Amino acid sequence: MAGLHTVRLLREKGFQGTVTFLGAEPHAPYDRPPLSKAVLKYRGEDAVDDVAELAFAFDFEDAGVTLRFGERAVGWAPGTVITSGGDRLPYDALVVATGSEPVPLGFGGTLRTYEDALLLRDTIGAGKRLAIVGAGWIGAEVATAARAADCQVTVHEARERPLAALFPAAIGEAMAGWYRQAGVALRCSDPVTGAPDDADHVLVAVGARPDTRWLGAAFHRASDGSLLASEHLETNVPGVYAVGDVAAYRSLRYGGEHVRVEHWDNALRGPDTVVANVLEGVGAEVFDPVPYFWSEQFGRMVQYVGRHTAHDRMVLRGALGDPSWSAVWLDPLHRPTAVLAVGRPRDLAQGRRLVAAGTVLDAHRVADVGVPLTSAAV
Ligand SMILES: Cc1cc2nc3c(=O)[nH]c(=O)nc-3n(C[C@H](O)[C@H](O)[C@H](O)COP(=O)(O)OP(=O)(O)OC[C@H]3O[C@@H](n4cnc5c(N)ncnc54)[C@H](O)[C@@H]3O)c2cc1C
Repeated sequence: MAGLHTVRLLREKGFQGTVTFLGAEPHAPYDRPPLSKAVLKYRGEDAVDDVAELAFAFDFEDAGVTLRFGERAVGWAPGTVITSGGDRLPYDALVVATGSEPVPLGFGGTLRTYEDALLLRDTIGAGKRLAIVGAGWIGAEVATAARAADCQVTVHEARERPLAALFPAAIGEAMAGWYRQAGVALRCSDPVTGAPDDADHVLVAVGARPDTRWLGAAFHRASDGSLLASEHLETNVPGVYAVGDVAAYRSLRYGGEHVRVEHWDNALRGPDTVVANVLEGVGAEVFDPVPYFWSEQFGRMVQYVGRHTAHDRMVLRGALGDPSWSAVWLDPLHRPTAVLAVGRPRDLAQGRRLVAAGTVLDAHRVADVGVPLTSAAV
């Protein structure tokens, strides 16, 4: 995703030099969000049976881009990338957009690629038993699709409730209710150490780690292995940029902290900044969006924008048992830091602008679902 848009923008912004696009997968880049949604859900005539259906339409040939799909970068030396084909590719600027790979547990399958999704689609069906390890975003989406296919689903979650690292207990409990209403057996506080033996198929969905090991020791990394990058998305090695899931960029919005965002919107936006800095010189553009992502689970559209901390106060709009509700986090100065919207896209859209602007809000009006969020401004 981030690689594709970097290539596209280089040409759109007039770069006329050589562009080589290396990709370990044999396909042109495609969208991953549908892998745990449409690809698993649709069967028969509506089935997504060609990865090209998930690809962004871009004419690489017309753009004069040298494609090396099915070829992996396996090593780096100053000014050179070494490929699995044994080539040494010289570069003036290198953009690392190698994304994430699922954290393995030594058993079960994972879901990252189109092939993974096809395999999973074939194993979830009426009467089959699927065990999912991890009640995170992907675990919830796969559980949704598997239940729609009348599969028996058990989800094993190590923490005491879903998404415990991200949301307070009340929200996690409400989400646990979604699993149960859908007929999923959710087992919390259940860290799994070996393949559950009561399933036909096991999906391990315990998170993803940045794919950076091929780069070697010259690059500064965060503890999770992501590449530390500046607010211009440049790594500590001049001329080498990191974008998308692989990058932990310095965020001015968050006090200079290095932030890693493993979501689609981040991979879509980062390339703008990379290309501006590559073409116009480092410093031309700063990357500092308000992080955003969505998930579709158990018949609900779940969207989250911003980043809240334990010091922020959570204000609910609606009740957690309602079909739709939102949670807004306010900092001590009553500025919104994040919005979680369940089936309330308008709250999300308005909240996104308010978080970006740091608008002071009246908490009582925020709590009134009848008042549009923007009208809660003081
Ligand atoms: C099943 C699934 C569902 C998702 N759903 C959502 C969603 O609903 N909402 C949302 O916001 N986000 C979602 N995401 C996350 C989103 O897809 C990612 O954030 C996004 O794909 C990141 O883009 P990227 O370009 O950084 O990395 P990737 O999409 O991971 O692309 C990196 C590419 O680099 C290749 N590569 C890796 N190492 C090398 C190497 N050494 N040499 C050459 N190539 C290499 C990989 O094979 C891969 O093709 C989902 C992800 C998955 C897996």
